[in-house]
Amino acid sequence: GHWTDPATLLGEGEEDFGLRPRSLDEFVGQRRAVENLRVALQAAKGRGESPDHLLLAGPPGLGKTSLARILAAELGTHLHATSGPALERPKDLVGILTQLQRGDLLFIDEIHRVPAGVEEYLYGAMEDFRVEFTLNEGPHARVIPLTVERFTLVGATTREGLLSSPFRARFGLLERLDPYPTEDLVRILERSARLLGVELEPDAATLLASRARGTPRVANRFLRRVRDLGQVRQERRLSATLADETMTRIGVDAHGLEELDRRILHVLARNGSTPIGLKTLAAAVGEAEDTIEDVFEPHLLRLGFLHRTARGRVATADGCRAIGVEPDTQAPG
Ligand code: ADP
Repeated sequence: GHWTDPATLLGEGEEDFGLRPRSLDEFVGQRRAVENLRVALQAAKGRGESPDHLLLAGPPGLGKTSLARILAAELGTHLHATSGPALERPKDLVGILTQLQRGDLLFIDEIHRVPAGVEEYLYGAMEDFRVEFTLNEGPHARVIPLTVERFTLVGATTREGLLSSPFRARFGLLERLDPYPTEDLVRILERSARLLGVELEPDAATLLASRARGTPRVANRFLRRVRDLGQVRQERRLSATLADETMTRIGVDAHGLEELDRRILHVLARNGSTPIGLKTLAAAVGEAEDTIEDVFEPHLLRLGFLHRTARGRVATADGCRAIGVEPDTQAPG
């Protein structure tokens, strides 16, 4: 049929599969979001209806896709997954909408990247479960009204601010996911270690968790690399020493900074207190602007290593020290 395997579609690593939480009970942390979703689920089930459309916002790797899958599982419905960029033309969307069965969940990842011309079609589908599809163009254009089965749209976005306000207003539920505290990441690592069948010592779990930039996906990636090294060394138990060596080998420092974080800080530090715009920064480190803003900057901001002004970014004194550079006397913080 029309459906590509969601995992392929979302460019998700195959390795994410086994470790995904499968129910709300298995989902660690994010208490507020989880409780709100529990209420929405229970209420909808009680009424025999589908829950309101849901927008999940937050940085990559925090569990948005996992929550969408859990919702579908708990509702006992199908999950249809696509992404903003995959919905190039209205007919891409209409093709999906008309295949939905009553109560299905439609998951749109990177929903802020749905093209404006497609977004309008979503409005009608979300509100009245109808779309007016224009067949042909020019003098032979015909408008075909189509009904869509009642469904729940689950949108995931790393950039809530890029969604237009009429679009955002059509979601009855909005949950923002925050970076996980170290304790939660430790619990996630303990669970993952169990699932992978390895013994992770508590100190090792704490070390990995504290460097995982609040992100379960990153924590799980670290765990896999430690497991690899343990296997090669024939060490049955994964110790903090082994974890620390793994971090050094993959270039993650004590702050959880990776190669690109350090490149960003070096470029900024070189410029002292003169701010650098995102475009220039992206070109200098050779990474996409979006990736810098979504993936790297939030962590540097949280650590207080980077400062954002109206004119651009600067490295703070702490940021300079983190990469072993003497801070400019003008540097903030
Ligand atoms: P996103 O869609 O926000 O990018 P995902 O849902 O794909 O994030 O999560 C990435 C990986 O992190 C998942 O495969 C899962 O193993 C793990 N993960 C995320 N959130 C949690 C959580 N709360 N509890 C346990 N594992 C989690």
